[in-house]
Amino acid sequence: MKTFIRCLSYNMAAPSAVPHMHLNSAPLKIGIVGGGPTALLMFKKLLDHGDQHISVDIFEKKQLLGAGMPYSRLGALDEHVTNVSGNEIPALFSSVEEWIAKEHLHTLNRFKVDASNFNDYKVLPRLLFGRYLSDQFKELISRAKQANIAVNVHYGCEVTDIIDDEKAGVCHVVHTNGIHPFDRVIVCSGHHWPKRHEGKVTGYFDSPYPPEKLAHRTDHPVAIRGSSLTAIDAIRTLARANGTFEKSENGDLTYILDNESPNFSMLMHSRSGFLPAVRFHLEDSHLSKDAVLSAEEIASVRAENAGFLPLNHVFKRNFLEPLQVADPAFYAQIKDLSIEQFVEKMMAERELLSPFDLLALEIKEASRSIRERKSVNWKEMLAVLSYAMNYPAKHFSAEDMHRLKVSLMPLISVVIAFAPQSSVNELMALYQAGILNIISVGDNSEVVVNENGEIIYTYTDASGKTISTTYQTFVDAIGQSHLEMKDIPYPSLLSAGTISPAMLKFNDQLFAQKSYESGDEKVIKYADGSYYQLVTGIAINDHFQVLDRYGATSGRIYMLAVPYIGGYNPDFSGLDFGEAAAKLVAASMFPIQKSLEDELLT
Ligand SMILES: Cc1cc2nc3c(=O)[nH]c(=O)nc-3n(C[C@H](O)[C@H](O)[C@H](O)COP(=O)(O)OP(=O)(O)OC[C@H]3O[C@@H](n4cnc5c(N)ncnc54)[C@H](O)[C@@H]3O)c2cc1C
Repeated sequence: MKTFIRCLSYNMAAPSAVPHMHLNSAPLKIGIVGGGPTALLMFKKLLDHGDQHISVDIFEKKQLLGAGMPYSRLGALDEHVTNVSGNEIPALFSSVEEWIAKEHLHTLNRFKVDASNFNDYKVLPRLLFGRYLSDQFKELISRAKQANIAVNVHYGCEVTDIIDDEKAGVCHVVHTNGIHPFDRVIVCSGHHWPKRHEGKVTGYFDSPYPPEKLAHRTDHPVAIRGSSLTAIDAIRTLARANGTFEKSENGDLTYILDNESPNFSMLMHSRSGFLPAVRFHLEDSHLSKDAVLSAEEIASVRAENAGFLPLNHVFKRNFLEPLQVADPAFYAQIKDLSIEQFVEKMMAERELLSPFDLLALEIKEASRSIRERKSVNWKEMLAVLSYAMNYPAKHFSAEDMHRLKVSLMPLISVVIAFAPQSSVNELMALYQAGILNIISVGDNSEVVVNENGEIIYTYTDASGKTISTTYQTFVDAIGQSHLEMKDIPYPSLLSAGTISPAMLKFNDQLFAQKSYESGDEKVIKYADGSYYQLVTGIAINDHFQVLDRYGATSGRIYMLAVPYIGGYNPDFSGLDFGEAAAKLVAASMFPIQKSLEDELLT
């Protein structure tokens, strides 16, 4: 049992402690750790503040800026596509469509993209999108230089530590080539896929990334854990290594197994047995980014609810109210349901059909939606909710976060996967060829490696029978996990106490006290006697500044690497999340007028 000393309320919106005034002063020295998509969006937001007197250093361990993990060979091969189209991504220097129109023909040919037939409503190969992001970064850097902003890019430079020096009022970035002091450090180091057995156990893959490692013949049944976008990435690569897809004249896709792989097959293991929902036309391609509750509304609702932002309030404001406008008939069916009843209803409807029969129906629904440019409203509103609640989720009670995790999140994660058409068509072709299937394994499945190095998948089936199967190849494809504070690869942040674990206060303190007294290690008692639930990752304030165990911040370090802030940001929404977070960081860095801040935040 742990007692925690934190005198400030952890979830106070602690302001940046050190606003920067730039008149006649040295430039504000900003260090960005990682040079992927979030760094790009962050850099753009810094430039959007126009007249700021800043210098920016970007540390990227690879030789490429902008593409990050999913859009470079670290996370993609030619067969992997984005699940967003140009009109759905944050505005950069030029649109995807404009960029494609100017791109070399041989590059477009390689990715089978026809510029004359391309528009901003289409998804695109991730590696091609990575080139776009990389070019955008270069353009923005050259713009910054023209505006006399000093920008230093440190390629091939891995940051190994971050040291916040309170006395000197600077933050040191330690990297493979030395150490640099900064006024502000923004951590954009992105995805991290810890390895448990990979490299030690033949055929065991802790993630499908980089996908090249799966691009070889596997003439045996392959177990895949997960059934969403990460699993689809693995499936597309494994399928190509063991056969070919052929398109008939009427556009139907079939899968032909290679003669050398007669025993190849893939089985997805999923908790609920659901496949991801299919990408459809979005009425608002930016998913009502203005739906995020204002700071004033959050403050006033919290004031009326003992400091908590109730999940029911967010559900009402960011789901029910916009749904009432967009689809009154659907709204009428669900308006009186609790969150749990709504989820149960939608899940029950998914359970009426087998996963691939449902997929076939959703493919039709989505293609109608795209053809007629008409949204599937309730699904779109669920995506809006997922995006909008991410930011204020740190103000939920521990109980509401639990409700979100066990009830709403499983539905949201299925619905807002937005699986692209080309991916789901391949899933169908593989299923029809008898190569791919899915099973529901519930919450208690396990994968163990025995002393002989065999990989054994054990689960209980729907009839209650325990099934154990041995596999030669197992791919863990559940997606990016929420990581713990101890996994942060910058040791001084931990040893100096600059960061602290994320926690949420219990609404029902009596219940929490009982859990604490019965030895629940995830329940923490503060010095003031109140009880908190430990959630994953580290504590941050509303501007993404890291908080120490007293709930205080030096204001110098911002954490935008999503695996480490999962407890307070339950939904990994991708590029749109990076954009929203970057806005908040930039707004906290510069002392600007309130009216300008409001403008920047919408
Ligand atoms: C497989 C996959 C597909 C996805 N597809 C989509 C999609 O289609 N649409 C969407 O909106 N979202 C998608 N996402 C969500 C995705 O999280 C974001 O789009 C985006 O990649 C986040 O960018 P990032 O810069 O935070 O992280 P990353 O992309 O991981 O980039 C981090 C960068 O930091 C560098 N770096 C890491 N550690 C260090 C260090 N210590 N020192 C120096 N440099 C370092 C890395 O080399 C990398 O360049 C996808 C995610 C995954 C995993």
